[in-house]
Formats: sequence, C-alpha cells, structure tokens
Amino acid sequence: MKEKLVNGIAILILVSLFIIIIRLMDQSKSSGVSISTSGRIQSLELIALMENEMASEEHSSQTSTDDVPDYTRMYPNLYTVYSAPQEMNSERKIAYLSFDDGPSDNTYEVLDILAEKDIKATFFLVGSAIKKNNEDSLERMIHEGHTIGIHTYSHRCNEIYCSVERFLDDFNTVYEQIYDITGERVHIYRFPWGSNNGYSKNIKDALMDEMERRGFTCYDWNVDTNDSVGKPSAYSILRNIRRDIKNKDYPIILMHDSAINDLSVQMLPDVIKLLEELGYEFDTLENREPYQFNW
Ligand SMILES: [Zn+2]
Repeated sequence: MKEKLVNGIAILILVSLFIIIIRLMDQSKSSGVSISTSGRIQSLELIALMENEMASEEHSSQTSTDDVPDYTRMYPNLYTVYSAPQEMNSERKIAYLSFDDGPSDNTYEVLDILAEKDIKATFFLVGSAIKKNNEDSLERMIHEGHTIGIHTYSHRCNEIYCSVERFLDDFNTVYEQIYDITGERVHIYRFPWGSNNGYSKNIKDALMDEMERRGFTCYDWNVDTNDSVGKPSAYSILRNIRRDIKNKDYPIILMHDSAINDLSVQMLPDVIKLLEELGYEFDTLENREPYQFNW
C-alpha cells in the first residue's frame, strides 16, 4: 500500500512538472520569448531523469515489498500441515527406528520383522529407488502403521545441494510420487548425510527455513549404527548402538534398507532385542519432538 502511494505521488509530481514545462514552453512561444535549444534539452533530460528514478524506485519497492526469494513462489502445492510434538513429557523410554535409502527388496523383510514384533518405525524414502516392483512396500508401510518420510528423489549431493531451488525441485518430485502411490502427504524429511553435512552448508539455513515455512519437519538421528559405512559387522552395529544410546530417553536410531544393506536386515531382530533389553518401547518419528543436529 505504502509503495503504491509513493508511486502515485511520484507520478502526480511527474505529470504536474510535465504540464508546467509544456505551459512554460507555450507561454514563451506566445510571449515571443524563445527558449533556447539547450533549455529544451535540459527539460527533456529532467523528464528522462525523473522517469529513470521512478523506474528504479519501482524496482526497489518491489524487492522490498516482496523481500522474499523467488523459490518461495515455486511449487504452490508443496506445503503440508503437521504439528510435531514440541516436547516429550512421557515417563516412558521410546526408541525410534528409522530406515534410510529404501525401498528395496530388503524393505519387505524389514516390514515382516517389524510386523512380527508389532513395532512401528519410520522410513525415509529415496524417490529414485521406488520402482513398479517395490511400490507396494509403501502401501504396506502406511497400512501397517509406519511413517513415511522423504529422503530426496536423487540422493545426489551435487544435484540437491547446489541451490534451494534444486532441492525443492527434487523434493517436489518425490513428494508427488509418494502421494500418487499412497494417497498420503508426507510431512517429515531427513537430509541425505544429515542436516549438518558438508555439501549443503552454503544453503543450509535458507533451505531449512524454507522447508519449515512450507510445514515440513526435519529429523536427524542421535544413534548411528554405522550400518552403511565402511565394513559394518554384527558386532559393530550393536556396539555403536550401545555407545550412542547412553542416557537417551528418546533415541533415534539410524539404519538403512537399501539393496546393499542385507546385514542391517539380518541384524534387525538383534537390534530390537537389545533396545527392549535396555527398556525401550518403539514409536514412529511423527510422534516425537523434532530433532536436528546442533553441531
Ligand atoms: Zn541416505
């Protein structure tokens, strides 16, 4: 409103000056006083100068009114409504199993094990891993009470982390893909390599703000099984859990269920057994307060 008013006043001033100049020129003609050529040029220059100033004012007023980056206007459907719990006040100890990088053939086995134990978990899916022959695993996740989160479409650092726009473009693809298959909208996500990875540091703050503005909640992890790094073993997976889980009432356990993660599936019954021995129940991340790395 304010800018429109200023523009309006500027236009009025310009028009008035123009009229005054024209009248002066007419008067000078009728009174027989000639205006020098240089005088006319000066008048025209004055008008041009004012026009330029108005144009630049208009531009700066646009950037100040819409003092938001262009990507906020992209993907008008990429919004979700979700209220994550803001704090955990239960007396219970709850563990949150989370599986990244699926779906794959291994996902079915993970789902079977979880069903057998009646445990709910969270799957952060990679869109490019969703194929015709495994998309029914997504329906199983929904029907069996698990939560689906997004772990980007490409999972390629040089694609998703070069700009906020590129990330949104990738995210929107998998967001629509999961909706087409399940009819459900996803509202939580996990960044590949976590929120504090080296690839995204130039855009991280803007990206997280934009995802939050659109209603999405980010979950990192605080117990890393390291089941997808180096050469994991049955021993290392259980040892890593014991190491990270100390003093945590609401641990988020990072595991993987891509095609290469056979060991993770094999170890899942032992992981569950260990967590139960440590006194934990299980739930999905949408029932946990958000958690992001703070380092
Ligand atoms: Zn990943």
